[in-house]
Parts: sequence; structure tokens; C-alpha cells
Amino acid sequence: MPRKRYAMVIDLHRCVGCSACDIACKRENNVPHGFAWSNHIIETRGKFPDTKYRYIPTLCNHCDNAPCVANCPTTAMHKDENGLTLHDPDKCIGCRTCQLSCPYNVIYFNEDTPHPIRKDREPAIAGCTSTAPEVAERAGVPIPVYNPERESTYAGIRPRGIIEKCTFCDHRLARGEMPACVEACPADARIFGDKNDSTSNVSRALAKYTPRTLRPEMGTEPNVYYIRDY
Ligand code: SF4
Ligand code: SF4
Repeated sequence: MPRKRYAMVIDLHRCVGCSACDIACKRENNVPHGFAWSNHIIETRGKFPDTKYRYIPTLCNHCDNAPCVANCPTTAMHKDENGLTLHDPDKCIGCRTCQLSCPYNVIYFNEDTPHPIRKDREPAIAGCTSTAPEVAERAGVPIPVYNPERESTYAGIRPRGIIEKCTFCDHRLARGEMPACVEACPADARIFGDKNDSTSNVSRALAKYTPRTLRPEMGTEPNVYYIRDY
């Protein structure tokens, strides 16, 4: 029995689809181009004027029955004592089995090192704005968006040839703070907490509404839930 069982509830009625969560995650975790630990699904259905639009924020589901953990040959992908699905870079051999096992496509593989600044070598406005390498040099950091606090639990610049994904901001939880996406949400659409604590906001939201998870037929038992609708 874990000490805590961390979970997130996303209230789709409150979510305004602003993507502040995605941007906050990138900034907090130095998430490189092409990777999106915090992401979203956009769906439009029907024909005008009978259309339906849905914006569904997504991230690692930190599943209780995580196929990435079950299929990792080295135990690099593992569950911690509080139910987080975490990754040990020192044990990872880069086989990508976890990535193939995940039904949610939330695991990314680092092909390059160290998170090279691939796409921002040209200024947005020639002669006016700085390139990413120039920003990094002026700031004295390895990459333009660099958060040294991220390094308290994982390497700030991840090594080549291993995988990475959302950690529910484990480094912030260790300090008693909320994940960056939760803190950044202007609509309070993201509720985070301990499912083992019946008085937590997350437990209250789960009890009050009828929570849903993504792809329940996979039997992964996600810990990211969705309530209400747009
Ligand atoms: S890529 Fe790393 S974490 Fe993923 S299954 Fe292989 S060894 Fe495990
Ligand atoms: S920051 Fe909040 S309101 Fe904006 S897209 Fe994310 S969950 Fe929705």
C-alpha cells in the first residue's frame, strides 16, 4: 500500500483550452522541441451548425497497472512509493519497449544530446530578435529555457538514448508544491492530490462527479481522471 496515491482530476467544464498547462510544463521541465509531456487532444464532430468541439488535456496517466513498468526489462521504469510512474536514467538501456507499450503515446525518446537547440537557430525577426543559442549564451545556461530546480531529482539535460515523460513534477511534490501545470491553470481546471486522503480536493471531486479515464478498455487503471464536459 503506497503512502499516498497521487492523482489528477481535469474538469473539462472549467478548461478553456488555453494550453497554459502545456507551456508551464515545458518551462518547468526543460521539455525540448517535439516533446510534449503535457499535451492535448482536440476533437471536432458533426457538421455545422450541429458541431461539437472538445479539448482534452493529456499527460502521463501514472497508471496503477502501467504497461510501461510491466514491460521494462531493466526496472528503469518503476512505480514509486506514492504511486508515481518514474524513470531511472541510469538503468535505462533505451530499448523503447515502454514507449511501444504505452497506449497513450506520452513517452518520448531522446535521440540527441544534450537537447540541442534544433529549430531556433534563425531569429524570429532578422536583426531584431535573438536566436536560441544567443539567448542561452547570454543567460549562461545550457539551453534557453533551463530550470536548475528540475535537477533536484532528474538531470537537467537528459542524456542521449533514453526515454523521458511527465513525472507529475516529482521535484515540486517533494517540496510540497503542486505540479507546474496545476499551478499555471488560470481556470482551476486541474485538481491534484492524494486519493488515499478522503478529505483531499481530488478525492472530493472524484466522489462528487462521475470520473472517466482515457481508454479504460486497456485495463491500465489511470490516475488522471476527467470530470464533466465542455
Ligand atoms: S527504454 Fe528504458 S525505461 Fe523504457 S523499457 Fe527500455 S529500459 Fe525500460
Ligand atoms: S491551463 Fe487549464 S484551462 Fe488552460 S488548457 Fe490547461 S487545463 Fe485547460
